[in-house]
Amino acid sequence: MASQTGTIVQESLEALLEDPSFLPELQGQGRKQAFTSLAAILSTPNHIHKSFLRIPMDNGRVVRIPAYRVQHNNALGPFKGGIRFHESVNEEEVTNLAALMTLKNALHDVPFGGGKGGVVINPRELSIKELHSICKKYVQYFSDILGPDKDIPAPDVGTGDREMDWMMAEYKSIRPGTPYRGSFTGKSIVNGGSLGRREATGKGVYFTFRYLIHDFLTTQEKWLANTDNPFAKTALSYHYKPLNIAIQGFGNVGSVAALEAYNCTHLQNKVVSVSDRNVTLYNSEGLDIPALVQFVTTNRGDLPKNEEELKQSGVKADVRDRDDVLSLDVDVLILAALEDQIHKGNMESIKANIIVEGANAPVTGDADKYLSDKGVIIIPDILANAGGVIVSYFEWLQGRETQFYTEEEVFNLLFDKMRTTMDTILPQYFGDPFPLRQNCFIHAVMKLSTVLFRQGKLY
Ligand code: NAD
Repeated sequence: MASQTGTIVQESLEALLEDPSFLPELQGQGRKQAFTSLAAILSTPNHIHKSFLRIPMDNGRVVRIPAYRVQHNNALGPFKGGIRFHESVNEEEVTNLAALMTLKNALHDVPFGGGKGGVVINPRELSIKELHSICKKYVQYFSDILGPDKDIPAPDVGTGDREMDWMMAEYKSIRPGTPYRGSFTGKSIVNGGSLGRREATGKGVYFTFRYLIHDFLTTQEKWLANTDNPFAKTALSYHYKPLNIAIQGFGNVGSVAALEAYNCTHLQNKVVSVSDRNVTLYNSEGLDIPALVQFVTTNRGDLPKNEEELKQSGVKADVRDRDDVLSLDVDVLILAALEDQIHKGNMESIKANIIVEGANAPVTGDADKYLSDKGVIIIPDILANAGGVIVSYFEWLQGRETQFYTEEEVFNLLFDKMRTTMDTILPQYFGDPFPLRQNCFIHAVMKLSTVLFRQGKLY
């Protein structure tokens, strides 16, 4: 487990060990031993599977490509987590992301464990035939450990419904007669995917922010005004005020979160900046997000990166350097690209007072501490970006029932689930001086510890 996740899990366990009201059945030496056992279980994955996929390339060469499936913990249900296609994939990263999935599912009461997969490739450099071959080989190599009741992958960076359809089809051929629909989520609608799955993460990311800064504050204003909690002060300073938003990453998560902000009727929002792997776009009057979404869908996912492309898109904006998005003078920064984007080297340049983690682990431990100490509200990944796995769970259920929900039903169920989590976490968060990440982790660790104890796993 990477340092920040591991450190906060360890701190959560230490706090719970000292809290006599938590698992009071555990006393004395037995209690200490059980918590040592918990630390060992949560800090290490159950299994790390690695293989080299042997792939014939279009030029006739045969290459061997490293591929991973890490199964972190399945105390709450089958392992669940995306498969990433990216050139920077490595064992440590996949393992950390798998641990975050365990905590995310525990936090939101989703009956799944945590897993993650990855293949070390740049999918933009490969042909459709090569990508198809990689997807089939991935399933062939890992078919023994995958399955609807064992481990259920989903899309992540570099993969989408096309890859999930291919993988499910391969699983179906290898395991004929099994209920294959639940073997992968994030599939296309015709192949048993759920309406709303594509938008779920971005919608959930925006919802957590809106719920915290608007819905919750509106009902709890009096109470919050009387606390001296630093995060309550930050939140209240933005209540009912127009907000400027910048978004890093304009893919599946970032573009949907941007549209949600653009269309939001609860808050006076302006999305003044968005960025991607090439550029930052900025307009202090607000960007035309629907026009940008239209542009990326017909330009291989990339934002306009020069005056000519901006003209083509019909969007008015300044083109700036890729990383400029992070240090703009905005109220809210939504991070929806990759890990480790705010770190020791740039944390002092961050001006936003609210940061929302659409990506997994985009803020390093040092930066998290520095910004939290300044009263910056950071809505952490395991709280904010769980929309995808929550709707994946609905997809898995729909596949079992062979009954499908409408898009409206899916979004209502999604927001109900996220609201329930927020209503559990936010009163604690605004009632004590700990950052939101700590509150979320301690809640997830409590759930996992209780389940493991009741399953007789702590000895
Ligand atoms: P994606 O591949 O659709 O989009 C990624 C975006 O980030 C693209 O716009 C890309 O150009 C941009 N990008 C890449 N490198 C960048 C850089 N250095 N600076 C700025 N932008 C950069 O991926 P996605 O599905 O939107 O996922 C984004 C993040 O959200 C990832 O961390 C992923 O793990 C996390 N996440 C995704 C989901 C989901 O359902 N898609 C669920 C939970 C978490």
